[in-house]
Amino acid sequence: MSWLTALARPEIVNLKSYEHAAWEPGLERLHANELPWRALGDNSDAGLNRYPEPQPRELLERLANLYDVATNALLVGRGSDEMIDLLVRVFCRAGKDSIVVCPPTFGMYAVSARIQGAEVLAVPLRAAQDFSLDEAGLLDRCTPAVKLIFLCSPNNPTSNLLSEEAILRIAARLEKRALIIVDEAYIEFATAASLARHIPQFPQLVILRTLSKAHGLAGARCGALIANPQIVALLRKVIPPYAIPQSTVEAALRLLQPPQLAVMRDRIDTVRAERTRLIGALRALPNTVRVWPSATNFILAEFHDADQALSRARAARLLIRDVRAQPALGRALRISVGTPEQNDRLLDALQ
Ligand SMILES: *Cc1c(COP(=O)(O)O)cnc(C)c1O
Repeated sequence: MSWLTALARPEIVNLKSYEHAAWEPGLERLHANELPWRALGDNSDAGLNRYPEPQPRELLERLANLYDVATNALLVGRGSDEMIDLLVRVFCRAGKDSIVVCPPTFGMYAVSARIQGAEVLAVPLRAAQDFSLDEAGLLDRCTPAVKLIFLCSPNNPTSNLLSEEAILRIAARLEKRALIIVDEAYIEFATAASLARHIPQFPQLVILRTLSKAHGLAGARCGALIANPQIVALLRKVIPPYAIPQSTVEAALRLLQPPQLAVMRDRIDTVRAERTRLIGALRALPNTVRVWPSATNFILAEFHDADQALSRARAARLLIRDVRAQPALGRALRISVGTPEQNDRLLDALQ
């Protein structure tokens, strides 16, 4: 894939990565300047006195199994946020290259790009057409300086799935010219399948997944990137050598067992049922103008008086998200689906 090495920053293509201490769990470790005793109160499986395995084999295997991809198509890190940052650092030269985002959307794409000094081009979703992709507008903006196109499906904060056909058409048009990154942080709450199955035909496609949302592990910081193995190899050059804390590895491994996964699926069913109930009840409130359908674990709602809704929620000790600064969302708030009790309390407060 010579187009890929042409797309990436030459410094990264030529970078000789840091050589971490050899990972040979069969031998005793006198090669990494660790202390040979555990810290007091350390009841982890492996011992926190030891550096963690760089890309933990067992975790990779379990995630590969969960996402139905090959282990060499997977990179694990501290949440999808780290994956977004790695992509921008590997592909965007400061002052020269650009990314495309489709607002209203997740803010980290633009923040990571700006930190790197890459330009952010915005091609808004079509608010009047259910926040669908503006395919023609997007392709128009894709000059050779555009290296990455960030699409979020289902999108945060509008909660809709983007059209798979549209994403694949964009990918086809930008073949060998840019990477199409599809952030699927909320896909477990939708009924659609992951786009990861298209990577063999579309090596310019990169998928982001996370354990932060449906799996309930936001505090552990664990996310994955799924891509062609050559893209994974490039990103591996840049990820810090001991990116994933051992406590995170162990928490994720416990969670990725069949009984825990069954609990996760039950909870997704509960979230979906509560989502339907909340949407119905919110639509019946006098203060709502519009409540959008949701393919996620949150609901976007437009209010006549959003300030009043925010303060009433707060008085009931509930925080909801003000998204009014985003394009086309002048009166909108974003509400995460809570427990049935929390949802009742919110509805009571907003009555
Ligand atoms: C919450 C969220 C993430 C998750 O980020 P992590 O770093 O994995 O916790 C990624 N993308 C979107 C759109 C999100 O809303």
